[in-house]
Amino acid sequence: MKREICRMGNPVLRATAEKFKIADLNTPEFKGLLQDMFDSMKEYGGIGIAAPQIGISKQVAIIEILGMNRYGQEINLPNTVFVNPEIEILDQATQGFWEGCLSIPGMRGYVERPKHILVKYLNEKGEEQSLEAEGFLATVIQHELDHLFGTLYVDRISDPKLFMYQEEFEQYIQQPSID
Ligand code: ZN
Repeated sequence: MKREICRMGNPVLRATAEKFKIADLNTPEFKGLLQDMFDSMKEYGGIGIAAPQIGISKQVAIIEILGMNRYGQEINLPNTVFVNPEIEILDQATQGFWEGCLSIPGMRGYVERPKHILVKYLNEKGEEQSLEAEGFLATVIQHELDHLFGTLYVDRISDPKLFMYQEEFEQYIQQPSID
């Protein structure tokens, strides 16, 4: 069931979310949370969503990117659940993308982030996983997982001039962006 998205200003987006215990996974409550996150992501047209965005301060995010081709990269990440994730930066070199966020509707901002990361996490069954990511996918993962630690992309915009309304972005910038 889709839920209302919490918007910037809601304290839940600024808290560090609580880690799951293994026993919390594989429960009807957890499966219901994942379903609500998935339905909300689809309803609002995101490629990722984190539990705090629907008001649940727990460390889980989901990302699904199907056949997206942006910036010359073809990206396919089937619906992936990240529980209790930790990011390791493999290359301090950064890359910039225009980002948006379901919790900050109607805005776009240019953010530079490390371009090569390793993320370690548990899947929805509690199994340990790791995923190495570069390029656009590395940025999407960092954006979503930031939500679990009270950080929004606006905190990472280095040049305030590169923060604007969606309509002006489309009018004057005309570049692909991350929704
Ligand atoms: Zn976001």
